[in-house]
Amino acid sequence: MDAHALTEALPLGGAGAAEPPPTYLETLLAAGLLFETDVRGLYGRSAVFESIADGLNAAITRIGADQQAEVLRFPPAMSQTDFETSEYLKSFPQLAGTIHSFCGDERGHRRLLARIEDKQDWTDQQAPTGVVLTPAACYPIYPVIARRGPLPEAGKVVDVLSYCYRHEPSLEPTRMQMFRQREYVCLGSPERIVAFRQLWMDRGQQLGRDLQLPLEVDVANDPFFGRGGKIVADSQRELKLKFELLIPVNDGASPTACMSFNYHMDHFGALWHIGLADGGVAHTGCVGFGIERLVLALLKHHGLDPANWPQAVRETLGGV
Ligand code: ATP
Ligand code: ZN
Repeated sequence: MDAHALTEALPLGGAGAAEPPPTYLETLLAAGLLFETDVRGLYGRSAVFESIADGLNAAITRIGADQQAEVLRFPPAMSQTDFETSEYLKSFPQLAGTIHSFCGDERGHRRLLARIEDKQDWTDQQAPTGVVLTPAACYPIYPVIARRGPLPEAGKVVDVLSYCYRHEPSLEPTRMQMFRQREYVCLGSPERIVAFRQLWMDRGQQLGRDLQLPLEVDVANDPFFGRGGKIVADSQRELKLKFELLIPVNDGASPTACMSFNYHMDHFGALWHIGLADGGVAHTGCVGFGIERLVLALLKHHGLDPANWPQAVRETLGGV
């Protein structure tokens, strides 16, 4: 009997059948930290999960207290017009999500229900609403800042937190379709942005060390779409516009980007006509904290019950 026949002959889970160890996602679901839906990358969060997320947000607020950042909060959606201005579809058409609604009359409603009844696709009975899901937490702030006119002399820092949507279904719990990004965004002269990014690369690593997480920082690129995208990604790396703080989270996979440190040069300043006090085009940059990924990294390295985590880690999170 060859090995293949042997595995087929054994009953599933029976004596001798080596059960594969549960994946990290299965472990999180079994522990009740995340709740499954029938969509990959869309999960409910437990009270424990949320208390860790709150602790992280509080720690990030504490670290950024000297930034005199303006706090701006948006629901996780933006206007289609602003979304178009951002040119997101040029770079990441594969990730964007749009909101559609039923806008018809009673006949249309009957047609819609009949489609569902017949188990046919009903979504073509929906029409675009002019609302697009936010792809990155900083996107909604640029039109707001642009409308105010030129930036103050010293530039500006904004504090944002938003659920974001990206269509990247995955079985890795670190790659969700809806997740939170906390960001500090800096707008000002190139020198201001470069200094801001260096400051936050240092602070991000210090936070990771305070949380007793194994980490490394490396140059990175965004997942630009298509063949042209490869060229843009290569140049982004060459110019060192994006760095990521990486932590091993998923078994047998390369480490996961849990924070990113980005220099957009004048990309958003030019798209949105954000001016410097002296008349030049504003440069921008941001530090992004992946809230879910950091929670998942903490649970991975310190265990599924925060009550058993090292005291210093719990204190950094404000006593979760
Ligand atoms: P990746 O390269 O892993 O796709 P990214 O470089 O596209 O991530 P950014 O656009 O820099 O990520 O987003 C900032 C942070 O948001 C990331 O460092 C990460 O922590 C978090 N993040 C990005 N995509 C996801 C996702 N699909 N699920 C959970 N967190 C995410
Ligand atoms: Zn950003």
